[in-house]
Amino acid sequence: MSKATPLARLYIKKLTPENPPYQVDDAIYKRFDQRNNLTVGRSTWDEQIQSYAKRSKETRNKLIQRGQVGYNIKDYALFLSSGVVAYRNGTEINHSNRGLTSWKKLGPELPGDAERWEGTPEEATAMVKRVARFVGADLVRIAPLNRRWIFSHSFWSDGSHKEIVFKPVDEPVETDTQMIVPENMQWVIMMGTRMDESVISYSPSPTGCAETRITYSKMALQVAALAEFIRGIGYHAIPSMNDLGLNIPFAIDAGFGEQGRNGKLITPEFGPSVRLCKVVTDLPLVRDNPIRFGVVRFCEVCEKCADECPSNAIPRGSRTWSGPSFSNNPGVFTWHLDNESCRKYWGVGNATNCTACIRACPFTKAPGLSHELARTFISNAPIFDPVLRRLDDFFGYGKQGDASRFWEKK
Ligand code: SF4
Ligand code: SF4
Repeated sequence: MSKATPLARLYIKKLTPENPPYQVDDAIYKRFDQRNNLTVGRSTWDEQIQSYAKRSKETRNKLIQRGQVGYNIKDYALFLSSGVVAYRNGTEINHSNRGLTSWKKLGPELPGDAERWEGTPEEATAMVKRVARFVGADLVRIAPLNRRWIFSHSFWSDGSHKEIVFKPVDEPVETDTQMIVPENMQWVIMMGTRMDESVISYSPSPTGCAETRITYSKMALQVAALAEFIRGIGYHAIPSMNDLGLNIPFAIDAGFGEQGRNGKLITPEFGPSVRLCKVVTDLPLVRDNPIRFGVVRFCEVCEKCADECPSNAIPRGSRTWSGPSFSNNPGVFTWHLDNESCRKYWGVGNATNCTACIRACPFTKAPGLSHELARTFISNAPIFDPVLRRLDDFFGYGKQGDASRFWEKK
């Protein structure tokens, strides 16, 4: 578990909930339909995106035959096997109420007829944060369940989809047409799991991308175990990875960080080298507040992720209110990625996924005093931003590492 360092107080500014580090135009913004998500949603109905997935096998075979470092059969096997907990036995990271993201209790009932746990929201918050860390989360914070971040519809890989609605019911329910979230489930426990920067450095090779998949497998355990704990003390819980709603705005509301040019959440502790999952609950909790530490301002001058993106999917210049396709949700003032180009590269160009924009980011650094000092400058003295970007290049940070080194480590 990461702890705030003494220097963090110099660069992390606490904000009020009314003044989060993002802007939304409520006249335009609508809840996002998960079927329009490019990574997976559109692959269930969009022939163009389906063709990328089909060509992925062909690409993989070619890359293996070419014998490029990081594209060996063992690298692809590592990539695929790392996701085994998150993608097998019914669990799918993008699908609600399946496998380990079940909306119903998975384990046996506790023995006896114990009454449900009672305590103050402060006690409950301390307790669930302790359990989240125990099950492996590196970061854990609480946000109120802002319904605008919940998807309008869920989808599944067989092409089926259901509307997500809120109703005054006692427990979460899936019907033939709807996913019903009880109105009194008003809290979301956000968990962040660090991705090892040394493995991410091999991205976009499958060796580097295996880090994302092993982290999803860890998250599958975390959401299932924390949800079971909450059910075990007598409350309701919905475990969720990429399904149900948008993780990044929930995490920003909970004070994890800010969104960067690369479209990722950027945290003070691990930069964008972190994955997010969540548990929604009716257990009354105390919220954490959003923060700011200079990310958006630094991104204005940095553009390093745009330089390193193999598909030119990351925009340069200033933020906008909308993006190039309907897979971008308009009404948020941010950098909207060309997700179609990104997705095409994943399938046709790389036959895995890609985290080159995480690898390249100057905020992706192992903990260390010099990096803490850089963050202090970024947050407090933006005049030095161009210099810090050049220094990052000068020291060789963010370049793709030699993936064969992964296999040398004992
Ligand atoms: S994941 Fe890769 S292809 Fe997609 S935006 Fe990031 S760097 Fe570009
Ligand atoms: S690489 Fe630079 S521009 Fe891109 S997200 Fe990181 S800090 Fe922002």
